[in-house]
Amino acid sequence: MPRDPHIRLFIPGPVDVRPGILNAQALPMIGHRSPEYADLQGRIIPKLQRVFGTAGRVFIVTSSGSGLQEAAVRNCVGHRCLSLVNGAFGQRWYEVALANSKPAHDLQVPWGTAIRPEQLDDRLRTGNYDTVTVVFNETSTGVLNPIPEMAEVVRRYPDVLLLVDAVSAAGGTDIRADEWQLDVCLTSSQKALALPPGLALCSVSDRTIERAHTVPCRGWYFDFLKYDKHAAKNHTPATPAISLMTALDAQLDAIEDEGWKARFARHRRLMHQVHDWVNDSGFGLFGEAGYRSPTVTAVENTRNIDVAALNAYLRHRGMLISDGYGPLKEKTFRIAHMGDTTEEAISVLLQTIDSYLAEQ
Ligand code: PLP
Repeated sequence: MPRDPHIRLFIPGPVDVRPGILNAQALPMIGHRSPEYADLQGRIIPKLQRVFGTAGRVFIVTSSGSGLQEAAVRNCVGHRCLSLVNGAFGQRWYEVALANSKPAHDLQVPWGTAIRPEQLDDRLRTGNYDTVTVVFNETSTGVLNPIPEMAEVVRRYPDVLLLVDAVSAAGGTDIRADEWQLDVCLTSSQKALALPPGLALCSVSDRTIERAHTVPCRGWYFDFLKYDKHAAKNHTPATPAISLMTALDAQLDAIEDEGWKARFARHRRLMHQVHDWVNDSGFGLFGEAGYRSPTVTAVENTRNIDVAALNAYLRHRGMLISDGYGPLKEKTFRIAHMGDTTEEAISVLLQTIDSYLAEQ
């Protein structure tokens, strides 16, 4: 089927990638053991350290974000993992742990609400866990969990590692892996970093590497010890997605030109722009007040509109939003405001939705 002309994506990943960044992938191929490659990886790493707020290890992995969810539990979980779940991606991580034969318990919190540090403390006090998994920004519900406060709780338990999924957070909101003492913080390329899908990126603490030494059956492809060894030479254990990395290199330069603070502020402005529209048009905000995501808004479909029909209307006009995730399919729809999206682009989208609503 021929592709439609450019449909601007306001779905929560993949998001639109600017043409200059897409074109950056079209450079001639290089060998992954060549000096040119080591140069490329060596250029990218310090910029990625700034994405995660770390002076420590950062790994570049050829997979989507779910691959690093798997890597993190395989390398870190010794006797039992506690998976915090307040949406579809927290649930996925819990299932990934179980699928890897890792003993795991879940802490379920109603979708749309944030997880409270006290809830975490109650479970850790049992002494049953050596690892916690949590999603920073729940893309399915538009909720940003209070990671700094949660990390403070985890640090009271010196044997517990904290693994954070920042898939739809990194590049859209501040992350301070060193200051908050996150043990693994992972993301993938196709969300707020505004790159094509296919790369997963993570920061990894010393404690994580120490733990990995004690964990058997880490597998081969995602073994952090192998990544660590190869990182010393600016290599990866297997052939990396070199073209995606040239795009990553160019995009991180562009992001640094914008400035991290300015980028985060733009994401917040876009969030408010969407919230104002939601309030003015008689819909609701699904995510809990005080914890709403700067990168994606889950709109409560209180007007019972036909989201599929709205999306057909939008597609015809060169744009697309997302329906609700899983059980929220009919109850919500989602507007992503992440990556390189501008106020102008969001304005055009919201005006077009208004035109649709006026025609009903
Ligand atoms: N975690 C979160 C928070 C996500 O939003 C997603 C995808 O939307 C994933 C994990 C899975 O990432 P990927 O699709 O890159 O495997």
